[in-house]
Amino acid sequence: MYSLDQISNAAAQLTGESLEGARLRLGALQRFDRLIPAASADQALLESVLASALGAVDGRTRPFGVREAKPVDKGLVLRVERAKDVQALFELLPYRPKRGPWSGVRGLFVQTDGTRLRFGFRTWLYERSWRSAEPSVWVAGPYEEDLPALLNAHEEQVRAAGHSVQWDPQCPEPGPKRQEPVTRSLVRRLSASYAMGSALLRRPRLWDSLSGYAGIRVDTRLTDYGLDWIVERQVTGWQFDDTRLIEVLSDHIVGCGLRVLDHACGTEECTVRLAPQPGVWGWRGVLTVHSRHAPSAPHIQVPGPRPLTAIGDCLSVSRPQTNTSNPDHRTQDRDGAVIQLTGAPRPDGVRRDDLSWVAEQIAAVWTARGLAAAVILTRNRDHEFSFGDPGQPAWATAPVPEAAEGWRRLRIAPPPGELWALEVSRGDDAVAAALAHARRAYDRVILIGRNDDWPYEEHPFDRLADARILVHRATPYERHIPLPTTTGQDVRAITLTPAESAVQWRQQELGRWTPRHPLTGMLLLISSDGSVPPDDFDLAVEEQLARYGTPILGRFPTDRGIIRGPGYSPHPPTVLDPQTEHPTHAQMAVAADALARHLWPDVPPATELTKTPDTRTSS
Ligand SMILES: [Zn+2]
Repeated sequence: MYSLDQISNAAAQLTGESLEGARLRLGALQRFDRLIPAASADQALLESVLASALGAVDGRTRPFGVREAKPVDKGLVLRVERAKDVQALFELLPYRPKRGPWSGVRGLFVQTDGTRLRFGFRTWLYERSWRSAEPSVWVAGPYEEDLPALLNAHEEQVRAAGHSVQWDPQCPEPGPKRQEPVTRSLVRRLSASYAMGSALLRRPRLWDSLSGYAGIRVDTRLTDYGLDWIVERQVTGWQFDDTRLIEVLSDHIVGCGLRVLDHACGTEECTVRLAPQPGVWGWRGVLTVHSRHAPSAPHIQVPGPRPLTAIGDCLSVSRPQTNTSNPDHRTQDRDGAVIQLTGAPRPDGVRRDDLSWVAEQIAAVWTARGLAAAVILTRNRDHEFSFGDPGQPAWATAPVPEAAEGWRRLRIAPPPGELWALEVSRGDDAVAAALAHARRAYDRVILIGRNDDWPYEEHPFDRLADARILVHRATPYERHIPLPTTTGQDVRAITLTPAESAVQWRQQELGRWTPRHPLTGMLLLISSDGSVPPDDFDLAVEEQLARYGTPILGRFPTDRGIIRGPGYSPHPPTVLDPQTEHPTHAQMAVAADALARHLWPDVPPATELTKTPDTRTSS
């Protein structure tokens, strides 16, 4: 139900990896919600140091001078375009002059590893964590160029000038006695927003995928909230291609997950400022992209854009059609249906987190059927809570600028299917506006209300949803009431009729609650590892339940313990991810299709999943 080729293309177009390499790497993932991994803190800091040097190379051939940035288990492998760009990295290497302060980045080391160079940090420079590997970036040259020879030449040059080389990890260097001042220490400056530098370095080919690429330069600037990264982008031709740029930078699956702060666009230049998601460590900075027209001679051909699969560009066309999938740029009014999922007003009712888990799984099946599906999650204001950042530098006293989150692509889906989500926390009007937009942009929209507690849940969205579904955990319908006997040996039991059992179930599960507004029905969550299908008695009970205004619309397989929390993805495994044991793709597909048949009996059922011509498509 996903295409490994499609998602491999989406990632490789930004990293520069080979398609085969990306397929192998992504094939090992459990979920396809993030295709370019984020580096651990120490690793990201090292990558930021290298990015700050590579950002200064003449990036006319390739952004950062990098052809490929391949994430590996133990770090990152950079394949540079030209051996001479490695010189920029050598400028970072620390040495001690005869007199005066050290030069270079103290604590950075390099060693040869075959034909490649491995950059790392001395252990005193970073906080060793038992979880993450030593920070490592391997640098490879074009066509197996002899980088070790280049390094030797550089070393000889430094020694010849009478300096003492300090970048060999075999020779101990205990580090400075006192912490270096921020003005002198690149590492200390970068520690404020190391994640941003790493995120840029891991997606070098974004920039030359855009129309009219003529080079970038990357710089950093200290601010009172941390450290900004600034990309100066040269563009030839008539357009800045800024829409696609913003789409990728704000994307969560292959992009950086940034949010647009402001965008000033003119004929001569375009400036976009993007802010990180609040409260995430290592992101204390704003990314500014200045795009300017490069002076172009008439005989120079303007490089055309390359398609970016992640944002819905088609590979087969010579000129990528852009913005076909961006919700802000849709023209088609789909007049989509809105379904609200809600839990019962009881302490053991299905909670909001679980509702969103189920909603994403159902929406993913509909996406796999070729529909544009969306999940809207409303939440309380001031919901976001974050722990203080232990890496917050002393000079960063101001809060990092914040921007509201927009629509978020949840998975890259085989076209024409789409899967998006939005969190709304700005009040009822914002929810109504989001729903109105979603109706135009999507075929099916699932809405999750704001609170677990019912009284607040009831009112505002009812009029906005076409169907209101109570999601509840399945519990068996009682068939007997056991009675004690005087001997204590025989068990006497009163047999219940389906009507009696229905009353009993309703009292027990929903209590005395009667919804103020009609429910379309109930969706029962069943255990995915072998639930017994309903028999005649169960069906007879459900007929009675329908009489009470709670018809059963379907059963959805789920695992009892939905695992959430730090370190776990907030998004469930769906049919657009590799198959898991429970619930299986088939179980989820059958359940979501059955629900759709109940809700829209007039719509012809999708008999089979959207197929792509790729024979290797997983199903
Ligand atoms: Zn612009």
